[in-house]
Amino acid sequence: MSTPVRQRPELPLLDVDSEEGTIPRARRVYVNRNLKMEGISTIGFDMDYTLAIYKQPEIDRLSVIATVDKLVVERGYPAELKELPFDCGFPIRGLLIDKDRGNILKMDRYKYVKSAYHGSVELPREERHLLYHQRVPRRDPPYYYVDTLYALPEAAMYAAIVPILEERGVEFSYERLFLDIRECIDASHRDGSILDVMLADLDRFVFRDPDLAPTLHKFRSAGKRLFLLTNSQWAYTDRMMTYLLGGAMPKYPTWRHYFDIIVVAARKPSFFTESAPLLERDGDRFEPATSLERGKIYEAGNLRDFERLAACSGDQILYIGDHIYGDILRSKKDSAWRTAMVIQEMEQEISVGTTVAAELARRDELEERRAQREDDLRFHQARWKALQRTDAASAPDAEASRARHKAAIEAARSELRQLTAEMHRLDRAIDGAFHPHWGPLFKAGPEVSRFGDQVEEYACLYTSRVSNFLRYSPLQYFRSPRDRMPHEM
Ligand SMILES: [Mg+2]
Repeated sequence: MSTPVRQRPELPLLDVDSEEGTIPRARRVYVNRNLKMEGISTIGFDMDYTLAIYKQPEIDRLSVIATVDKLVVERGYPAELKELPFDCGFPIRGLLIDKDRGNILKMDRYKYVKSAYHGSVELPREERHLLYHQRVPRRDPPYYYVDTLYALPEAAMYAAIVPILEERGVEFSYERLFLDIRECIDASHRDGSILDVMLADLDRFVFRDPDLAPTLHKFRSAGKRLFLLTNSQWAYTDRMMTYLLGGAMPKYPTWRHYFDIIVVAARKPSFFTESAPLLERDGDRFEPATSLERGKIYEAGNLRDFERLAACSGDQILYIGDHIYGDILRSKKDSAWRTAMVIQEMEQEISVGTTVAAELARRDELEERRAQREDDLRFHQARWKALQRTDAASAPDAEASRARHKAAIEAARSELRQLTAEMHRLDRAIDGAFHPHWGPLFKAGPEVSRFGDQVEEYACLYTSRVSNFLRYSPLQYFRSPRDRMPHEM
């Protein structure tokens, strides 16, 4: 087995030095919707990619090797896939896979497809336009949303395998290939090909954040109740949480002592929308739960029973998760829970944003200059047009005035062309600094990306890791920057 996997360079988390007295931007908690921590009585946590931060290159590599092995051995794909160099740095979160056409897309908040790749080759503008912008969008588009870090290797494999099968003349369906990858990666998670390897060497796959235990302790000291609500199974959860929190603070003999309620195998997002019974786990036996008690382990369940048995109203609950759909969007749409989203890429995004600060400032300057020159152009065009009228045309200096305006129009047009060209060059350089194929996570061209839009809409708060809360008071009033519409300058 020698599947070569190129690693994404940007994850896991960077070390960020603190400047005296201020919270570094990469470690701040950002606010979309005002939230008073004083009014929050209960704080819930997802586990995978929220409390447990995975070392992405290692987990990508493991997922790819296990999945490709199944594709070849169980589904009859060519053995050469095992030798294929999978570039796990290729995809980013927020992309969409077009299962009908074998393409990978990045959209902005208006569902405009800003970039599209077939394999690792970018579609020319005309083709992208023809495929995605000239028809009425289908009600049920064939897109799969890459909305977790967990899904990145799937996108990397899809992008790499599509062109190989096409080049070899293998007959295949784009959708079947996608489903095969999905099913094989899921099977690899279920049968232990991924989890057993990880559990045997957690140091290699998981980042143990030294600030995590003090963060949870700080919340508890302020009287908050904490709960864990994870889709992971009990055995895995117990091992992972022991690794993350076991022995971290003498006050807490086990990781379970940090939490007042522990629910595993929760089946989010169905947890928020359906009514599976809440079960109490007793060894390997289960009984319907009639209360939620500290020290016990619960499985499955649903939002309504949870709120009733936990005896707190939805708006007193803050839930912290990494999955825009399963943790954040569903809890927001179907409950009154307040939400905080963990986006670990933010540390990299903010650090790159700092390195291109000069280019971004220059971009603003150019935009301002463009607006001025467009005003000039309109002014001279209107004057020139007025001078064309027969009564004005006979005035003594009409000829000279027309020539003057004409020259000004030419000069403005020429400068506008130069400005536009320089802006395009700058845009490419700025986007390329964030990611060579897809640009920044939160933007798509001049607009907010679809991913950024969902973060804005559904996450009350967002931050790069749970332990960033350590730097804030547990009674913090998180205030959003005042929202302005374009006309309210
Ligand atoms: Mg998660």
